[in-house]
Amino acid sequence: MRKLNIFSEVKEHVTAREVAEFYGLKVRHNGLACCPFHNDKHPSMKIDRFYYCFACGAKGDAIHYVAEQYGLSEYEAAKKIADDFHIILEHDWKKDVKSRTQELEKRKAAEREEKRIIDIQKKFKEWCHKTIERLKDCLQMIASAKKICRCKPPDEIFLSEDFSLLLQKEPIIGY
Ligand SMILES: [Zn+2]
Repeated sequence: MRKLNIFSEVKEHVTAREVAEFYGLKVRHNGLACCPFHNDKHPSMKIDRFYYCFACGAKGDAIHYVAEQYGLSEYEAAKKIADDFHIILEHDWKKDVKSRTQELEKRKAAEREEKRIIDIQKKFKEWCHKTIERLKDCLQMIASAKKICRCKPPDEIFLSEDFSLLLQKEPIIGY
């Protein structure tokens, strides 16, 4: 595929003549004009897609013409033409599409990350809720076990290893 650049794109859209006329050059029907690059009394510049002055030898395309007339670099001249003629540069446009796509990808990734965090928070809340419920059950168990045990002699109480473990953990569960 042919590589697009600002120069080839601008030259595809406008001729030297269109550009020259836009920036004030009077071109006669025969395609001749007074050369703006030397003190021309009689039209000695032939201008169409390119321009050529038979008197001073100035020549080039649309971009050269503007660069010469305004003392710009060729790149600046091409930019100026693109702006003034409202030429939508395809290589700029492609760059835009690329950066827009990247932007979109970034936003999607951020949304995914946000969703992931929300999910984790939700799961953590559920887990907390369940754990608290479970701990409450434990406390109830301890409370009811205590009631039962109050009527029993101590040696019998501490036969139950599980129960003594529960009692040990009671302050932690309560917290
Ligand atoms: Zn000339």
